[in-house]
Amino acid sequence: SVERFEGEVVFDNVSFSYDGKRSAVQDVSFSIQPGENVALVGATGSGKSTTLGLLHRAFDPQSGCIRIDGDDIRDLTLASLRRNIGVVFQEPMLFARTIRENLQVGRPDATDAEMIEALQRAQAIEFISRQTEGLDTVIGERGRSLSGGERQRLSIARALLKNPPILILDEATSALDAATEKKLQKALDEVMKGRTTFVIAHRLATIRNANRILVFDQGRVIETGTFDEL
Ligand code: ATP
Ligand code: MG
Repeated sequence: SVERFEGEVVFDNVSFSYDGKRSAVQDVSFSIQPGENVALVGATGSGKSTTLGLLHRAFDPQSGCIRIDGDDIRDLTLASLRRNIGVVFQEPMLFARTIRENLQVGRPDATDAEMIEALQRAQAIEFISRQTEGLDTVIGERGRSLSGGERQRLSIARALLKNPPILILDEATSALDAATEKKLQKALDEVMKGRTTFVIAHRLATIRNANRILVFDQGRVIETGTFDEL
């Protein structure tokens, strides 16, 4: 079994370049307490996704250090990182398998009852119940048979089952209708509760609710604070 992190995250002067010439992230430092909800904002190309890619070790910084609970993440095993950091992407990794198999990705031992509960909390139960085969419904390649909002809520249900202390979330950019927006907000509230979350935020509601906002510009964090402070 793998140790569960508390969820304290520190970036200490982190810099990263994809091509060895231009920095995608430059001298980024911040310190996040367990359970904080952090919103990353900034123009396209300002380094938000790269910063979160560094946190789950999609790549390593050229300089600086990232620590979780005081440990340099390069000294942790990838298994431990993967177990402790959940990710919900705009285009979630879904497979042309059953909904059950898609939900079991981070939690192979999840029971049907647990899956149903996660789907309820993620506001995803109603479109799953509409399928004649329920959890046994096979979804299309990359979840093509679902709408974008449904895919994202399925991905939130998966994160709820995995229950990681740290969660990375890339919010959808597309405009949502009021009903979908409300469902998504409920699902996000559920999945962000009780864990350290990093959200690449596009919705005003997310930015307003964050404990801390990191404002990115050309690879740097140029401002940090709460919505009221900024
Ligand atoms: P967006 O809001 O558009 O998602 P972002 O803030 O997430 O933008 P990043 O994707 O982190 O920005 O990009 C930071 C910089 O790194 C940009 O200049 C971008 O062109 C570059 N970049 C991003 N991904 C790659 C990659 N895979 N290879 C090379 N350069 C990249
Ligand atoms: Mg991005």
